[in-house]
Amino acid sequence: GKEERLQKVIAQAGIASRRAAEKLILEGRVAVNGQQVSKLGTKVTSADEVKVDGVPLDGSEKKVYYLLNKPRGVVTTASDDKGRQTVVDLLTDVDARVYPVGRLDYDTTGALIMTNDGELANQLMHPKGKVDKVYTAKVKGIANLADLAPLKRGIMLNGKKTAPARVAIEKVDQDRKVSFITLTIHEGRNHQVKDMLQKVGYPVDKLRRDRYAFLDLLGLQAGDYRDLSHDEVKRLK
Ligand code: URA
Repeated sequence: GKEERLQKVIAQAGIASRRAAEKLILEGRVAVNGQQVSKLGTKVTSADEVKVDGVPLDGSEKKVYYLLNKPRGVVTTASDDKGRQTVVDLLTDVDARVYPVGRLDYDTTGALIMTNDGELANQLMHPKGKVDKVYTAKVKGIANLADLAPLKRGIMLNGKKTAPARVAIEKVDQDRKVSFITLTIHEGRNHQVKDMLQKVGYPVDKLRRDRYAFLDLLGLQAGDYRDLSHDEVKRLK
C-alpha cells in the first residue's frame, strides 16, 4: 500500500489530531509491528500494524462529540507532566479516547469541543476554517471604544498582524475600575485574547469563551458537558 506518515495515519484513525498524534509518538506511546517508535517522520503502509497504548488502530471506535464548559484550574491536554487535572479527566462517563479541539488556558473557562474525530478536529483548527470564537474578558481599567479600535483593524502580535476582530464593551464598573469586553476572533494563537487586550492597555483578569462556532454555554455550568446532537455535528462539518 501507499506510504504515509505515522502521525497522519493515527490522526486519520480518529485517535488524535495531527499535533496530538505527534505528541503520542514523542511520548513513546506508539508501536509499529510491535516495535516502539518515538521519532517523527516514520512512514507506514496499511500492511503495518500500528498500536497506540497497546490498542490497534482499527478505526472501529465510534465517533463521539461533546461540548464542555471548561472550568478554571484544568489543563487542555490529554496528559499533564505536573499531574494537574485535564479536560479529559472531566468527561467521567466517556470511555472513548477523546481530546480537545484547540486550547484554552489553565485559568480560562468556557466552550470547548471534545471528540475522537481527528478529521473534524483538524478541520476546525485549520486557520482557513475561520471558526468564530466569542470571548468575554474581565479587564482592569475603565474601557473605552477608542482604545479598543485597533483590535478591529488588527494589531501586531509577535511580529504578525492579527485578523480583524469584533469588539464590544459589555459593562464598565466605575467603582471597581474593571470592564467586561466581548471579543470575537477566528484565529487561535497562544494567549491571543489576553495578549490583544494587554496590548491596548487592558490586562485580562478573567477570560471565558462564550461561544465556539454556533455552540454556546446555555445550560452548562463550569465543569458540565453534553453530547453534541447529530444536527450540531453536521453543522460543524
Ligand atoms: N485567548 C487567550 O488568551 N486564552 C485562551 O484561553 C483563549 C484565547
